[in-house]
Amino acid sequence: MVREAGARLSDDATRDIDWLAPEAPALAWMVRLAAPFTYATSKNHTYALRRSGHVALRRESAHARAAISQRIREAFRGRRVAHNKVWIDLLVQKPDHRGDAINVVDLVCDAIKDAIGVDDRWFCIRRLDWEIAKSDPMLYIGIGQEAEYDAQVCSHCGVIKPLGAFTRRAKAKLGVGRACRDCLRAGRKHARYATETSR
Ligand SMILES: [Zn+2]
Repeated sequence: MVREAGARLSDDATRDIDWLAPEAPALAWMVRLAAPFTYATSKNHTYALRRSGHVALRRESAHARAAISQRIREAFRGRRVAHNKVWIDLLVQKPDHRGDAINVVDLVCDAIKDAIGVDDRWFCIRRLDWEIAKSDPMLYIGIGQEAEYDAQVCSHCGVIKPLGAFTRRAKAKLGVGRACRDCLRAGRKHARYATETSR
């Protein structure tokens, strides 16, 4: 029954292909920053320049990721980030048309995860664009949230709910159980019904 309720909610989430609506979600806050672009920020960097050796290239990528992460930490000093959806705007400036913006997304998201401590399962790309900038190409990164309360996705119904909608569980990472109170109640009712009818 609980599973059915979850499936029903997922049915409600079925979209028409015109989902790509022109309006971007309105955000409660957004932090903007810029970091220098290098091809080391691209996922296919380790494959692109074989001459230098993979280990050196991986080190370059790790260094670029750490540098971006550091910028984000500085920009976020004193700001609380909720355990909730994180929206990302990314403009990739590149010196030529060799690499693609898509391959930069991975490393930037990893750097954001390192800096703000919210798992990337919560990340959404709000905007992604690129342009050519021959001198001093930069990555322009915007990071924001719609909701400022801590939330969790219920393991049964799949709805994003504030932590208060879950029962407390001291040992769990977020201090709450995985299924929401409504689902637990529905499950208990269902269990009672099952025992009553099987008598
Ligand atoms: Zn639920």
